[in-house]
Amino acid sequence: MRIDFRSDTVTRPTPEMQEAMHMAPLGDDVFGEDPAINALEGMASDLFGMEAALFCPSGTMTNQIAIKCHTQPGDEVICDLDSHIYQYEGGGIAFNAGCSVRLLSGDRGRITAEQVSEGINAVGDVHKAVSRLVSLENTANRGGGSCYELTEIERIREVCDRHGLALHLDGARLFNALVAQGGSPRDHGRLFDSISICLSKGLGAPVGSLLLGTSDFIKRSRRIRKVFGGGMRQAGMLAAAGQFALEHHVERLAEDHRHAAAIAAALEHQPFIERVLPVETNIIIAEMRQPWTPLDLQTYMQAFDIRFFAISPRRFRLVVHLDITPAMVERTIGIINDINTLPCSQA
Ligand SMILES: *Cc1c(COP(=O)(O)O)cnc(C)c1O
Repeated sequence: MRIDFRSDTVTRPTPEMQEAMHMAPLGDDVFGEDPAINALEGMASDLFGMEAALFCPSGTMTNQIAIKCHTQPGDEVICDLDSHIYQYEGGGIAFNAGCSVRLLSGDRGRITAEQVSEGINAVGDVHKAVSRLVSLENTANRGGGSCYELTEIERIREVCDRHGLALHLDGARLFNALVAQGGSPRDHGRLFDSISICLSKGLGAPVGSLLLGTSDFIKRSRRIRKVFGGGMRQAGMLAAAGQFALEHHVERLAEDHRHAAAIAAALEHQPFIERVLPVETNIIIAEMRQPWTPLDLQTYMQAFDIRFFAISPRRFRLVVHLDITPAMVERTIGIINDINTLPCSQA
């Protein structure tokens, strides 16, 4: 039995989701004629209380379209050092939008209104890039699935308003945060100029992300999506999977969170673990005690067909998702508890 904690992107569509995909009414979405995509975009914009939505092939594309749409070349984007838009999108901020980045060192991926305020360049100083956009990530991936407090986002919104900056949310795992905190999509919809959400992570759809914003913003985003090569045709089967995910796979995220907490608790007291970051949602990030490295644990677990990634020379990450069953969690915890001495390659 393969137990795959590498990412919540590895989920496969359930039989019920596949059934919904087969039933989807289809048309050419570049002409705006795919009924399933139009339904999904309408449903999502209603859910968030935002004017419009755009279905895209990936979360990288929704983020990159948003950055491109909010900025001009030479502008500066403010975000956390660990943010996905900076770490994992292939340098797209420079490549696609021609922007520079002001990186802030937040707390487990979360930045504060004070930090944002200090990161804004003085208007009128010709030496400086024009600060234009702030991008937050909720939950923060490299922060171990940490969640923003809504009050902090409200404070950041005020700073943005004061300085005329746009505010984007990389909400790849926003539903994990909403389920963990009991929040509502509309709370976020009213605070951000644009929101990206992933349907292909813990929600379990095979492909797809949504970008949300005003009608005018989404109209301009639709043009950029075409330029980026993301205009799809009869992609309603994918949208139907996304709609199914939003209807049936949101509340169950709480189960992933319980599973993640249980695995973290098993790891916590192992002699080869230095520390486990607080587990708020479905991601566990832990640090190996020297001289052990993540590779030592990966090698050990691989013998049981349990997979996960190292994210730095000291840290590794486990992500819990729809395809991780209670039996898999039980087996993983049993195996962790049974480790007597972890072989160490550095010793
Ligand atoms: C996965 C992810 C994305 C988007 O990734 P794609 O693989 O391009 O869909 C964006 N932001 C965060 C924080 C992510 O974890």
